Amino acid sequence: MKREFKVPGGTTLRCKGWRQEALLRLLENVLAVGEDPANLVVYAALGRAARDWPSHDAIVRALMTLEEDQTLIVQSGKPIGVLRTHPQAPIVIMANCNMVGQWAHAENFYRMQDDNLICWGGLTAGDWQYIGSQGVIQGTYEIFSRIAERHFDNDLRGRFILTAGMGGMGGAQPLAGRMANAAILTVEIDSERIEKRIKAGFLECRADTLDEALALIRDAQAARRPLSVGLLGNAADVYPEILARGIVPDIVTDQTSAHDLVYGYVPAGHTLEQVARMRREDMAGLMDASRRSIVRHVTAMLGFKDRGAVVFDNGNLIRTHAKQGGVERAFEIPVFTEAFLRPLFARAIGPFRWIALSNDPEDIRKIDDFLLRRFPDNLIVSNWIRLARESVPFEGLPARIAWLGHGERTELALEVNRMVREGILAAPVAFTRDHLDAGAMAHPNIMTENMRDGSDAIADWPLLNAMINCSSSADLVAIHSGGGGYSGYMTSAGVTVVADGTDAAAQRLSLSLTNDTASGVLRYADAGYEEALDEVGKKGIDRIDTMAARV
Ligand code: NAD
Repeated sequence: MKREFKVPGGTTLRCKGWRQEALLRLLENVLAVGEDPANLVVYAALGRAARDWPSHDAIVRALMTLEEDQTLIVQSGKPIGVLRTHPQAPIVIMANCNMVGQWAHAENFYRMQDDNLICWGGLTAGDWQYIGSQGVIQGTYEIFSRIAERHFDNDLRGRFILTAGMGGMGGAQPLAGRMANAAILTVEIDSERIEKRIKAGFLECRADTLDEALALIRDAQAARRPLSVGLLGNAADVYPEILARGIVPDIVTDQTSAHDLVYGYVPAGHTLEQVARMRREDMAGLMDASRRSIVRHVTAMLGFKDRGAVVFDNGNLIRTHAKQGGVERAFEIPVFTEAFLRPLFARAIGPFRWIALSNDPEDIRKIDDFLLRRFPDNLIVSNWIRLARESVPFEGLPARIAWLGHGERTELALEVNRMVREGILAAPVAFTRDHLDAGAMAHPNIMTENMRDGSDAIADWPLLNAMINCSSSADLVAIHSGGGGYSGYMTSAGVTVVADGTDAAAQRLSLSLTNDTASGVLRYADAGYEEALDEVGKKGIDRIDTMAARV
């Protein structure tokens, strides 16, 4: 059967209530904007919206018939049952790709995936929260802006950013770099991905040779003109070549799917077709080739660092695989969270999103107006909203992301709920956040690397976060662990709450969004971060301090 992937919208309900309808629309939306929807893949190489098509269709049927006092249970993308709960309980709960510790290895994952026992939901794919490359764009922009503040007098004009990967998440890089006023070169091995980003308005121009790309970048630097260039090539070839020519970019990173040596990363010297064949016929050979290529790739990144570039890991495990391949110095490259974003996370300021279920961009504009009126002095929010409004094209259902913190998220959501009730907005709005959020993730190589108290690998925190979100009446709550190359590397929690204009929604939004960020502040306070302790005091979060009791 040929499937069509349409962006939903309008005000006609197909389900028994807006909560169910909202989740159905979000599922449709992740496929409409996903990278390979025919295979249910949304982003990050293997991040799936559902286990397989029969599972997908059963989820859709369940959402359409679900009553307000029932909960649909999803195990790694497959619906397993509908149970009677109560109207304040989540409509959907999920556990995606959680394997028992000693067994959580990539090879076991691939075997269980082939046996159709498990699938990886990525982070926001399996929870139906993905909103296209715009979902990480403020995060990427914030990183570039923090680097500008620390290293370049707050100005990236005339600066050269080198990166790679233009997939679901990495596709945000060219636009984020351009918005930060830099000249950004993004290397991508798949020609179709380059075209997709140009079409979506995230990339300005394409070069097919390194000479052509470097000339474009050089001219833009000289004119101090922001520019994004996509180069067709393999980063493990292009980075060493740029280094060998003695050119040192100002900022270097990478967002290929390096976490997955089989389904994500494309090793140098291999075509996409060869890699597809090796997946079937020689998985061990492919893993070996990917690791050797990553060794070259990261060795060049270290070479740039030694020559003065600001180099950072953008959350794709590239250092981990390089280290396993013998690059002893791989972890001299800092991860972006620890290097640039932790002070924000310690206050539970993180990537919060809202999605207009109407498919009417006007709804997002009206919410933008409210934010600009309400938070004029919060520059992370107000500068971003102005910039995003001008520069970030919508993909799929109109949506916005902004780094809001404890209390701010709840306030916004309650105001939006009022706007829905009063008919100011065309239809309800769904609120979600990234899993890379204060209370929501343990990932010792990305989110929780070098935590002050050494608690990097403790997964209790995201599990508690999911439980408090369930207890606080969120509409969808999910617990995820890594799959493919991320197997054994992370645990995270996802949450979605729908503002449908009712009093019940106001209660759900208030409890779950407030407790979601409170759990993040408590997590960082427990690790001893001053910003979190300050937030506890300022915002009156009821923290139990057992260390104080011991003194
Ligand atoms: P994706 O699979 O959609 O895209 C990866 C892209 O990299 C593809 O377009 C692929 O063709 C390209 N690629 C692979 N090997 C290459 C090579 N050697 N040279 C050049 N291009 C190559 O993945 P995505 O959703 O864009 O995510 C990318 C990575 O970022 C993943 O590891 C993901 O887990 C990670 N990630 C980080 C964050 C964050 O917050 N920083 C957020 C989401 C995802």
